[in-house]
Amino acid sequence: MDNGSARPSLTILLADPRGFCAGVDRAILIVERALEQFGRPVYVRHEIVHNRFVVENLEKKGAIFVEELDEVPQGVPVVFSAHGVPKTVPAEAERRSLLYLDATCPLVSKVHAEAEHHFAAGRKILLIGHSGHPEVVGTMGQLPASAIVLIEDVQHAEMVELDADGDMAFITQTTLSVDDTAAIVDVLRRRFPDIVGPRREDICYATTNRQMAVKAVAVGADAILVVGAPNSSNSMRLVEVARSAGCPRAQLIQRARDIDWGFFDGVGRLGLTAGAAAPVVLVQEVIEASRLRFDVTIEEITVMREDVHFKLPRALNA
Ligand code: SF4
Repeated sequence: MDNGSARPSLTILLADPRGFCAGVDRAILIVERALEQFGRPVYVRHEIVHNRFVVENLEKKGAIFVEELDEVPQGVPVVFSAHGVPKTVPAEAERRSLLYLDATCPLVSKVHAEAEHHFAAGRKILLIGHSGHPEVVGTMGQLPASAIVLIEDVQHAEMVELDADGDMAFITQTTLSVDDTAAIVDVLRRRFPDIVGPRREDICYATTNRQMAVKAVAVGADAILVVGAPNSSNSMRLVEVARSAGCPRAQLIQRARDIDWGFFDGVGRLGLTAGAAAPVVLVQEVIEASRLRFDVTIEEITVMREDVHFKLPRALNA
Protein backbone atom coordinates (compact mmCIF):
# COMPACT_ATOMS: atom_id res chain seq x y z
CA MET A 1 0.00 0.00 0.00
CA ASP A 2 1.28 3.45 -0.83
CA ASN A 3 1.64 5.22 2.50
CA GLY A 4 3.30 8.26 0.95
CA SER A 5 6.76 7.23 2.15
CA ALA A 6 8.16 7.76 -1.37
CA ARG A 7 7.69 11.48 -0.91
CA PRO A 8 10.56 13.45 0.59
CA SER A 9 9.97 14.58 4.15
CA LEU A 10 9.39 18.20 5.01
CA THR A 11 9.05 19.70 8.47
CA ILE A 12 6.97 22.86 8.50
CA LEU A 13 7.85 25.20 11.34
CA LEU A 14 4.68 27.15 11.90
CA ALA A 15 5.23 30.55 13.48
CA ASP A 16 2.80 31.40 16.27
CA PRO A 17 1.36 34.03 16.39
CA ARG A 18 0.73 34.45 12.66
CA GLY A 19 -2.10 35.82 10.51
CA PHE A 20 -5.07 37.94 11.57
CA CYS A 21 -4.71 40.49 14.36
CA ALA A 22 -7.50 42.03 16.42
CA GLY A 23 -7.61 45.19 14.26
CA VAL A 24 -8.07 43.21 11.05
CA ASP A 25 -10.69 40.95 12.64
CA ARG A 26 -12.62 44.00 13.76
CA ALA A 27 -12.39 45.77 10.39
CA ILE A 28 -13.72 42.76 8.48
CA LEU A 29 -16.50 42.25 11.03
CA ILE A 30 -17.51 45.90 10.64
CA VAL A 31 -18.06 45.42 6.90
CA GLU A 32 -19.91 42.13 7.44
CA ARG A 33 -22.16 43.58 10.16
CA ALA A 34 -22.82 46.68 8.06
CA LEU A 35 -23.95 44.42 5.19
CA GLU A 36 -26.29 42.54 7.56
CA GLN A 37 -27.66 45.70 9.12
CA PHE A 38 -27.99 48.00 6.11
CA GLY A 39 -28.14 45.50 3.22
CA ARG A 40 -26.18 45.61 -0.03
CA PRO A 41 -24.23 47.48 -1.11
CA VAL A 42 -21.87 48.78 1.52
CA TYR A 43 -19.04 50.92 0.16
CA VAL A 44 -15.53 50.61 1.57
CA ARG A 45 -12.96 53.34 1.06
CA HIS A 46 -9.64 51.60 0.19
CA GLU A 47 -8.99 47.85 0.71
CA ILE A 48 -10.42 47.23 4.19
CA VAL A 49 -7.19 45.36 4.97
CA HIS A 50 -4.35 44.67 2.54
CA ASN A 51 -5.36 41.22 1.31
CA ARG A 52 -7.02 40.41 -2.03
CA PHE A 53 -8.64 37.21 -0.72
CA VAL A 54 -10.38 39.14 2.05
CA VAL A 55 -11.45 41.90 -0.34
CA GLU A 56 -12.84 39.45 -2.91
CA ASN A 57 -14.80 37.57 -0.24
CA LEU A 58 -16.39 40.79 0.96
CA GLU A 59 -17.15 41.80 -2.64
CA LYS A 60 -19.07 38.54 -3.05
CA LYS A 61 -21.13 39.48 0.02
CA GLY A 62 -21.97 42.91 -1.42
CA ALA A 63 -19.14 45.27 -0.51
CA ILE A 64 -17.92 47.74 -3.14
CA PHE A 65 -14.35 48.98 -2.78
CA VAL A 66 -13.39 52.47 -3.94
CA GLU A 67 -10.38 54.68 -3.41
CA GLU A 68 -12.08 58.01 -2.77
CA LEU A 69 -15.24 59.24 -1.14
CA ASP A 70 -16.48 60.96 -4.31
CA GLU A 71 -17.02 57.47 -5.77
CA VAL A 72 -19.60 56.73 -3.04
CA PRO A 73 -23.19 57.53 -4.05
CA GLN A 74 -25.59 59.34 -1.71
CA GLY A 75 -27.67 57.22 0.62
CA VAL A 76 -25.38 54.20 1.06
CA PRO A 77 -23.13 53.48 4.04
CA VAL A 78 -19.35 53.70 3.69
CA VAL A 79 -16.65 52.08 5.83
CA PHE A 80 -13.16 53.56 6.28
CA SER A 81 -10.33 51.01 6.20
CA ALA A 82 -8.31 49.73 9.17
CA HIS A 83 -5.35 51.93 8.18
CA GLY A 84 -7.07 55.16 9.21
CA VAL A 85 -7.97 58.23 7.18
CA PRO A 86 -7.01 61.91 7.13
CA LYS A 87 -9.46 64.15 8.99
CA THR A 88 -10.72 65.56 5.72
CA VAL A 89 -12.39 62.22 4.92
CA PRO A 90 -14.93 62.01 7.80
CA ALA A 91 -15.41 65.79 7.44
CA GLU A 92 -16.40 65.33 3.79
CA ALA A 93 -18.66 62.37 4.69
CA GLU A 94 -20.42 64.57 7.22
CA ARG A 95 -20.77 67.42 4.75
CA ARG A 96 -22.48 64.98 2.36
CA SER A 97 -24.55 63.45 5.21
CA LEU A 98 -23.17 59.99 4.42
CA LEU A 99 -23.54 57.27 7.02
CA TYR A 100 -19.96 56.23 7.70
CA LEU A 101 -18.37 53.59 9.90
CA ASP A 102 -14.76 54.00 10.89
CA ALA A 103 -12.84 50.70 10.89
CA THR A 104 -9.55 52.41 11.80
CA CYS A 105 -7.69 50.05 14.14
CA PRO A 106 -7.85 51.45 17.69
CA LEU A 107 -4.05 51.15 17.84
CA VAL A 108 -3.78 53.47 14.84
CA SER A 109 -6.31 55.84 16.44
CA LYS A 110 -4.04 55.86 19.51
CA VAL A 111 -1.18 57.18 17.33
CA HIS A 112 -3.53 59.85 15.93
CA ALA A 113 -4.34 60.89 19.50
CA GLU A 114 -0.61 61.08 20.36
CA ALA A 115 -0.01 63.30 17.33
CA GLU A 116 -2.80 65.66 18.40
CA HIS A 117 -1.48 65.73 21.95
CA HIS A 118 2.06 66.66 20.84
CA PHE A 119 0.71 69.27 18.44
CA ALA A 120 -1.38 70.86 21.21
CA ALA A 121 1.75 70.93 23.39
CA GLY A 122 3.56 72.89 20.67
CA ARG A 123 5.95 70.11 19.66
CA LYS A 124 7.34 69.49 16.20
CA ILE A 125 6.40 65.91 15.34
CA LEU A 126 8.59 63.35 13.57
CA LEU A 127 6.65 60.39 12.18
CA ILE A 128 8.74 57.28 11.51
CA GLY A 129 7.05 55.47 8.63
CA HIS A 130 6.87 54.72 4.92
CA SER A 131 5.87 57.46 2.51
CA GLY A 132 2.61 56.82 0.71
CA HIS A 133 1.37 54.02 3.01
CA PRO A 134 -2.30 54.72 3.79
CA GLU A 135 -1.63 54.66 7.54
CA VAL A 136 1.03 57.34 7.14
CA VAL A 137 -1.27 59.40 4.92
CA GLY A 138 -4.00 59.07 7.58
CA THR A 139 -1.73 59.99 10.49
CA MET A 140 -0.21 63.00 8.71
CA GLY A 141 -3.73 64.05 7.77
CA GLN A 142 -4.71 64.49 11.42
CA LEU A 143 -2.81 67.78 11.56
CA PRO A 144 -1.96 70.77 9.34
CA ALA A 145 0.52 69.94 6.56
CA SER A 146 3.68 71.34 8.17
CA ALA A 147 3.10 69.85 11.64
CA ILE A 148 4.60 66.42 10.91
CA VAL A 149 7.92 65.53 9.29
CA LEU A 150 8.19 61.99 7.88
CA ILE A 151 11.36 60.04 8.69
CA GLU A 152 11.79 56.92 6.56
CA ASP A 153 15.16 55.51 7.58
CA VAL A 154 18.35 55.97 9.61
CA GLN A 155 20.00 58.12 6.92
CA HIS A 156 17.03 60.44 6.94
CA ALA A 157 17.11 60.61 10.75
CA GLU A 158 20.79 61.60 10.55
CA MET A 159 20.19 64.31 7.94
CA VAL A 160 16.91 65.91 8.95
CA GLU A 161 17.39 69.56 9.79
CA LEU A 162 15.29 70.84 12.65
CA ASP A 163 15.54 73.56 15.22
CA ALA A 164 17.25 71.63 18.03
CA ASP A 165 15.99 74.19 20.58
CA GLY A 166 12.33 73.61 19.74
CA ASP A 167 10.22 70.99 21.50
CA MET A 168 10.03 67.75 19.53
CA ALA A 169 8.26 64.41 19.65
CA PHE A 170 8.27 61.24 17.60
CA ILE A 171 5.53 58.79 16.76
CA THR A 172 5.67 55.73 14.49
CA GLN A 173 3.66 53.75 11.98
CA THR A 174 2.27 50.63 13.69
CA THR A 175 3.57 48.03 11.23
CA LEU A 176 7.31 48.74 11.00
CA SER A 177 10.30 46.52 11.67
CA VAL A 178 10.93 46.67 15.42
CA ASP A 179 14.72 46.54 14.96
CA ASP A 180 14.91 49.11 12.13
CA THR A 181 12.70 51.48 14.09
CA ALA A 182 14.81 51.11 17.24
CA ALA A 183 17.87 52.13 15.18
CA ILE A 184 16.04 55.23 13.88
CA VAL A 185 14.87 56.16 17.38
CA ASP A 186 18.46 55.81 18.67
CA VAL A 187 19.64 58.35 16.08
CA LEU A 188 16.84 60.77 16.93
CA ARG A 189 17.52 60.49 20.67
CA ARG A 190 21.24 61.07 20.10
CA ARG A 191 20.66 64.11 17.88
CA PHE A 192 17.75 65.53 19.87
CA PRO A 193 18.19 64.35 23.48
CA ASP A 194 15.01 66.06 24.71
CA ILE A 195 12.76 64.49 22.08
CA VAL A 196 9.58 63.04 23.58
CA GLY A 197 8.19 59.69 22.42
CA PRO A 198 6.11 56.72 23.46
CA ARG A 199 7.69 54.48 26.14
CA ARG A 200 8.07 51.84 23.43
CA GLU A 201 7.51 52.70 19.79
CA ASP A 202 3.94 52.74 18.47
CA ILE A 203 4.56 49.46 16.66
CA CYS A 204 1.55 47.37 17.59
CA TYR A 205 1.48 44.14 19.57
CA ALA A 206 0.57 42.08 16.49
CA THR A 207 3.47 43.35 14.39
CA THR A 208 5.89 42.88 17.29
CA ASN A 209 4.72 39.35 18.11
CA ARG A 210 4.72 38.16 14.48
CA GLN A 211 8.27 39.47 14.05
CA MET A 212 9.37 37.71 17.26
CA ALA A 213 7.81 34.46 16.05
CA VAL A 214 9.40 34.61 12.59
CA LYS A 215 12.80 35.27 14.21
CA ALA A 216 12.37 32.17 16.37
CA VAL A 217 11.47 30.15 13.26
CA ALA A 218 14.34 31.59 11.18
CA VAL A 219 16.91 30.04 13.51
CA GLY A 220 15.95 26.51 12.48
CA ALA A 221 14.53 26.92 8.96
CA ASP A 222 16.21 26.33 5.59
CA ALA A 223 13.67 28.64 3.94
CA ILE A 224 10.64 30.68 4.99
CA LEU A 225 7.38 31.47 3.23
CA VAL A 226 5.37 34.48 4.38
CA VAL A 227 1.73 34.48 3.30
CA GLY A 228 0.62 38.04 2.65
CA ALA A 229 0.21 40.81 0.12
CA PRO A 230 2.99 42.94 -1.40
CA ASN A 231 1.15 46.10 -0.29
CA SER A 232 0.92 44.82 3.30
CA SER A 233 3.63 46.59 5.32
CA ASN A 234 3.28 44.02 8.06
CA SER A 235 3.91 41.08 5.69
CA MET A 236 6.82 42.71 3.85
CA ARG A 237 8.51 43.40 7.18
CA LEU A 238 8.17 39.70 8.10
CA VAL A 239 10.15 38.76 4.98
CA GLU A 240 12.88 41.28 5.85
CA VAL A 241 13.00 40.23 9.51
CA ALA A 242 13.26 36.54 8.52
CA ARG A 243 16.18 37.35 6.22
CA SER A 244 18.04 39.45 8.75
CA ALA A 245 17.40 36.83 11.47
CA GLY A 246 19.46 34.26 9.57
CA CYS A 247 17.23 32.83 6.87
CA PRO A 248 18.11 34.55 3.57
CA ARG A 249 15.71 32.30 1.64
CA ALA A 250 12.55 34.08 2.73
CA GLN A 251 9.81 34.81 0.22
CA LEU A 252 6.37 36.42 0.16
CA ILE A 253 3.48 34.55 -1.49
CA GLN A 254 -0.17 35.55 -1.74
CA ARG A 255 -1.63 32.08 -2.29
CA ALA A 256 -0.42 28.47 -2.51
CA ARG A 257 -0.82 28.70 -6.28
CA ASP A 258 2.03 31.26 -6.35
CA ILE A 259 4.56 28.79 -4.95
CA ASP A 260 7.53 28.09 -7.19
CA TRP A 261 8.30 24.51 -6.07
CA GLY A 262 11.91 24.96 -7.14
CA PHE A 263 12.12 27.14 -4.02
CA PHE A 264 11.84 23.91 -1.98
CA ASP A 265 15.04 22.35 -3.46
CA GLY A 266 17.25 21.28 -0.55
CA VAL A 267 14.67 22.44 2.02
CA GLY A 268 14.03 19.97 4.84
CA ARG A 269 12.67 22.52 7.31
CA LEU A 270 10.34 25.19 5.97
CA GLY A 271 9.28 28.13 8.13
CA LEU A 272 5.73 29.33 7.52
CA THR A 273 4.00 32.46 8.75
CA ALA A 274 1.43 35.03 7.61
CA GLY A 275 1.03 38.79 7.90
CA ALA A 276 -1.65 40.32 10.09
CA ALA A 277 -4.06 40.74 7.16
CA ALA A 278 -3.73 37.17 5.85
CA PRO A 279 -6.50 34.70 6.80
CA VAL A 280 -5.59 31.37 8.36
CA VAL A 281 -7.21 29.51 5.46
CA LEU A 282 -4.42 30.71 3.15
CA VAL A 283 -1.78 29.23 5.46
CA GLN A 284 -3.73 25.96 5.50
CA GLU A 285 -3.78 26.05 1.70
CA VAL A 286 0.05 26.14 1.65
CA ILE A 287 0.21 23.21 4.07
CA GLU A 288 -2.23 21.17 1.95
CA ALA A 289 -0.32 21.95 -1.27
CA SER A 290 2.90 20.85 0.47
CA ARG A 291 1.29 17.58 1.59
CA LEU A 292 0.69 16.66 -2.08
CA ARG A 293 4.46 16.70 -2.67
CA PHE A 294 6.04 15.96 0.70
CA ASP A 295 5.60 13.81 3.75
CA VAL A 296 4.83 16.76 6.02
CA THR A 297 5.37 17.06 9.77
CA ILE A 298 4.14 20.21 11.49
CA GLU A 299 5.98 21.82 14.41
CA GLU A 300 4.44 24.96 15.88
CA ILE A 301 6.87 27.48 17.34
CA THR A 302 4.93 29.58 19.84
CA VAL A 303 6.51 32.71 21.28
CA MET A 304 3.42 34.41 22.67
CA ARG A 305 -0.28 33.79 23.33
CA GLU A 306 -2.47 36.66 22.10
CA ASP A 307 -5.80 37.56 23.61
CA VAL A 308 -6.65 40.98 22.18
CA HIS A 309 -10.14 41.95 21.01
CA PHE A 310 -11.55 45.32 20.04
CA LYS A 311 -15.16 46.47 20.33
CA LEU A 312 -17.23 47.29 17.27
CA PRO A 313 -18.54 50.83 16.69
CA ARG A 314 -21.77 51.58 18.57
CA ALA A 315 -23.68 52.18 15.32
CA LEU A 316 -23.49 48.41 14.68
CA ASN A 317 -25.47 47.54 17.82
CA ALA A 318 -22.55 45.41 19.02
S1 SF4 B 1 -1.45 45.25 12.44
FE1 SF4 B 1 -1.61 46.23 14.44
S2 SF4 B 1 -2.25 48.35 14.01
FE2 SF4 B 1 -2.62 47.14 12.13
S3 SF4 B 1 -4.74 46.49 12.32
FE3 SF4 B 1 -3.49 44.86 13.24
S4 SF4 B 1 -3.44 45.36 15.45
FE4 SF4 B 1 -4.10 47.18 14.34
